[in-house]
Amino acid sequence: MRLIATVAAMRETSRGARREGKTMAFVPTMGYLHRGHLALLKEAKKRADLVVASIFVNPTQFNESEDFSSYPREPERDRKLLEENGVDILFLPATEEVYPEGFQTTIDVTGLSEGLCGSSRPGHFSAVATVVAKLFNILRPDVALFGEKDYQQLALIRRMNADLNFGISIVGVPTVREHDGLAMSSRNAGLSPEERKAAPSLYRALSRGRKLFERGERKAEAIIGEAKGVIENPIELDYLEIRDSETLAKIEEISGEAAFAIAARLGKTRLIDNIILKEK
Ligand code: AMP
Repeated sequence: MRLIATVAAMRETSRGARREGKTMAFVPTMGYLHRGHLALLKEAKKRADLVVASIFVNPTQFNESEDFSSYPREPERDRKLLEENGVDILFLPATEEVYPEGFQTTIDVTGLSEGLCGSSRPGHFSAVATVVAKLFNILRPDVALFGEKDYQQLALIRRMNADLNFGISIVGVPTVREHDGLAMSSRNAGLSPEERKAAPSLYRALSRGRKLFERGERKAEAIIGEAKGVIENPIELDYLEIRDSETLAKIEEISGEAAFAIAARLGKTRLIDNIILKEK
């Protein structure tokens, strides 16, 4: 695996690969890798000649209270995992090069950034869209892979890719879970034993709602009400919502397909999850 730390070297390498007719799949991450990230890499390997992963803990997408500095980091272990999982190139840009003095451009995917996680994380999605656009421009990949766990992020990147004509094939990868259903996340490491015990009830809540949906219920309010009852202490619910799976517009009654999404606080940790409710 090749390590690349500068924008110029990354650009040159991907240009070279293109000249040789090689296709490139890109998996952006913030490191502290788990099986969810590995699923993205596996899918990437199937879809292109070269797999490029990036690790960049993007400071602009954290609110002050979320504390960018306490985000878990384990660069040596990550490097080993990426190598073992067939990554060809690891891009590790420095913050000063990503955001040089005078940087002032941002991308707003306006509608999709509102509501859900956008309400409690002002500016977050604009920062995500901006950094992903920069990475797309530096690498010019053929394919880019994102987890369905971050459903709003995936929807917004699909929209940006279409709106700004990046022409990249955006692939969503299903959420990888722990044995008890908890969606894998780098943030799970911050849970206390008590919080870790309660955390799987987020997915249990979504699953309970899905059961009702499968029995024929189509009213969002009824499904949400049923799911809410499952959430355990000391979880503080941020939202539990049913939205159109593509536009993320609010819906009262499900027809076709909908995203059932949850976000909650467990002490200092904020967790999210979602499932798709789909009519057969
Ligand atoms: P992060 O390092 O948290 O920024 O995540 C990098 C990528 O991995 C994003 O596209 C996430 O959606 C994806 N991802 C994170 N957790 C999971 C998971 N449990 N299953 C599948 N993909 C995931």
